[in-house]
Amino acid sequence: MRLSLRWRITIPFVLLILFTSGLISIFLSQYFEQIYLENVRSEAVHLARVLASQSAPFLSTGSNVHNTQSIVQLFSSFTNTSFLIVLPDGSITAQSGAYLFNKEKDFHQPDIQQALAGKESTRISRSPENNDSYLEVFEPVMKGDAVTGMIWLVNSLNAYEGQMDYLQKMILIMNGAAALLAVLLVMALSNYTIRPLRHLTRAAQWMAEGDFTKVSLNNQSDEIGQLNQAFNQMAGQINAQFSELTTERVKLAAVLSNMTDGIMIVDYEGITRLINPACIRMFKVAQTSPVGLPLVELVRSHQIYDLWQQCHTSGEQKSLTFELSIDRLFINAIASPLSISPAGNVLLVFQDLTRLHRLEMVRRDFVSNVSHELRTPLASLKAITETLREGALDDPTAAKRFLLRMEIEIDALAQMVQELLELSRIESGKVPLDKQPIAPAMIIEAAYNRMQHQAERAGINLSYTVPEDLPLVNADRARIIQVMVNLLHNAVKFTPPGGEISMTAEQKKKMVVFQIKDTGIGIDPEALPRIFERFYKVDRARTGEGTGLGLSISRHLIEAHNGTIWAESEVGKGSTFHFSLPIS
Ligand code: ADP
Repeated sequence: MRLSLRWRITIPFVLLILFTSGLISIFLSQYFEQIYLENVRSEAVHLARVLASQSAPFLSTGSNVHNTQSIVQLFSSFTNTSFLIVLPDGSITAQSGAYLFNKEKDFHQPDIQQALAGKESTRISRSPENNDSYLEVFEPVMKGDAVTGMIWLVNSLNAYEGQMDYLQKMILIMNGAAALLAVLLVMALSNYTIRPLRHLTRAAQWMAEGDFTKVSLNNQSDEIGQLNQAFNQMAGQINAQFSELTTERVKLAAVLSNMTDGIMIVDYEGITRLINPACIRMFKVAQTSPVGLPLVELVRSHQIYDLWQQCHTSGEQKSLTFELSIDRLFINAIASPLSISPAGNVLLVFQDLTRLHRLEMVRRDFVSNVSHELRTPLASLKAITETLREGALDDPTAAKRFLLRMEIEIDALAQMVQELLELSRIESGKVPLDKQPIAPAMIIEAAYNRMQHQAERAGINLSYTVPEDLPLVNADRARIIQVMVNLLHNAVKFTPPGGEISMTAEQKKKMVVFQIKDTGIGIDPEALPRIFERFYKVDRARTGEGTGLGLSISRHLIEAHNGTIWAESEVGKGSTFHFSLPIS
């Protein structure tokens, strides 16, 4: 059992007070009893001596022995004491009280014999019958040096004992009352001393529960008051630091959760101590609470594990760029040792370079594609000029044919440069769009009118149907007709004679979706996702004219209108191109 501080202070004091007051009571009662008894004894001896001196003349003469009885009677009546005057021969000359002197038994008592031998003595005896106690004095009666008798004084102590009992009771009561008062005082004092500590304890408990605003009130200037003040100051400082820390933590959490880079802290055992949402997304972490799990279990990439290990063992920053098998992400990982405690922690930062990497690839592809596309007409032009120089100029028919061929190549070059410029202007947002509400039927009819002739020449049937209740779309008329014509142009190009091309439009939610459907050669499923890329041409169609930029330009134009463009196709059966435009 653990006693509270209050009782730990109170109980020893109470025990001490009780022990001291008990000792004082015992001491006082014994002391008073002794003094009392001594007084009674000296009074009795004095009385016995006075009687001895008064009766001495009568005992020596022997004639007036009977006078001694009247003296004894007189003394007895005044002092309430019993007397016996015993002569050396054992006879009684005077007596007060009812006691019958037994010569056989009493005369040989040592005290009587000692008194008859001239020696005074006293004794306290207790009656076996009624347990009363008595003080007895044995006083010799002297005549010169000779003993002429003795006084046997018997005084009942009952009255004195009664008084002593009363006195002891009084001492006990007084001491008890004093002890009680002292105990109450100690309790009150300990309570008064402990109370500020209790307030302090409560305030500490509030602090432990995270509430730093409540303070312990104590205006005393003693040590506990000072402790209280120091505690309140400390609570204030902790509160300020705590709120600062909370703000910092909130900021850090916001930064970490909004960062696009993946962040991870891994301890010396390879256990993840922190991971941000970007990292969870990047590595497709399935565990709901990844903190506390081993790094290998979370990222499942030996390259990252090796990177962490290298950084951990060397204590130096390490970096690595690699392609993650999941999602084919291109990631730059930087592992830096952290100097914060506990030691051995490593900060891993993962930057997703996929977009940059793709852009770089696109740029490289673009350059190689442009060169490739330019090389063919340029090589052809070079061959023609060489042929002309080597004598074909002299043959006017051949020269005319070669010139026509040159014109075609130059037109192709000019078209490609034109389309490239157009694409770059659209991509960089430099083409201003004159968006206006326009009826989808108008776009379809305009495209039809432009391409109808070409389709007819190619032996293809071009048709359209437009529902009458279609809403207006918000679009740049010329640009959208350009897209439509591009798509129709491709459809005509990749549909064999006798084929069908149909156009239609329908409303889907807040968009109008246009559709150009042909019965042409179709597009390979592998090529389908790539046809909107720059310079992309499906191999089979590569032989034909075309730069591979048409669909790319169309996609950029549609996206600039906040729409989308997509295609569905089946090889040998035909393709369907869709694009959507927002309703105005
Ligand atoms: P191009 O100028 O070569 O037509 P595009 O960007 O317009 O370039 O088209 C890219 C490629 O997509 C074409 O080379 C062709 O292989 C394929 N393609 C486009 N439209 C169709 C279609 N309607 N049918 C079959 N293939 C098509």
